[in-house]
Amino acid sequence: MQEAHDAPPLELVDIRKSFSEGKGRLNVLKGANLTLYPGQIVALVAPSGAGKSTLLQIAGLLERPDEGEVYIGGVACGRASDSQRTAIRRNDIGFVYQFHHLLPEFTALENVALPQLIRGLDRKEAEERSRQLLGYMRLSERVTHRPAELSGGERQRVAIARAVANAPRLLLADEPTGNLDPKTAAYVFDALVALVRASGLAAVLATHNLELAERMDRRITLEDGLVLEI
Ligand code: ADP
Ligand code: MG
Repeated sequence: MQEAHDAPPLELVDIRKSFSEGKGRLNVLKGANLTLYPGQIVALVAPSGAGKSTLLQIAGLLERPDEGEVYIGGVACGRASDSQRTAIRRNDIGFVYQFHHLLPEFTALENVALPQLIRGLDRKEAEERSRQLLGYMRLSERVTHRPAELSGGERQRVAIARAVANAPRLLLADEPTGNLDPKTAAYVFDALVALVRASGLAAVLATHNLELAERMDRRITLEDGLVLEI
């Protein structure tokens, strides 16, 4: 297991992905490569339509590339079965979307505890960890609130706590503050980065916000289907 531990949390090798468009194909990714190191936070900054979501969905094992290989912690995922990919996703990858995707009928605490219960932790342990994570996101006063009773920024902070609940090695965030006003976005972003730093995981954050991107360890973009450093 030592080997896997030292491996990059994420490695994308020559990823190609196209979609059918009218009579032809739209080539979105044309051989994209990316190696992410443990503890590194990378901003993915590119215009709308450049392929950011496609890249993150492939990295997060939510979609399969047409060609190329995705390594999560050194493990090649291309030939893995759907159930193996689901297990890797559950244990090793956290995902945050632009929209929070919290379950409306559950409290903040239950939303964060749920992935841990699915993974097999007992309720007491899961709730304890959820309380800690929500406390870290400065939501201790909100643990019994349901999503409808939370502000937009609070919902995103619950979603972030949920994404790291199973202590993944990799966090993928697709414009996580895209729906928030600038001040709230900055606050949520800071909370996200602090949590990522404290847990030592690696992260790729897609954002339109150059100012926020400047504060990351590394910045990449997508240009003509390739990942470039900026
Ligand atoms: P971004 O997140 O950078 O805005 P996307 O990855 O969502 O870009 O999309 C890249 C391009 O691929 C866009 O032109 C989009 O319309 C197209 N696309 C994305 N997903 C699909 C799909 N499932 N079917 C067809 N076209 C798609
Ligand atoms: Mg997108």
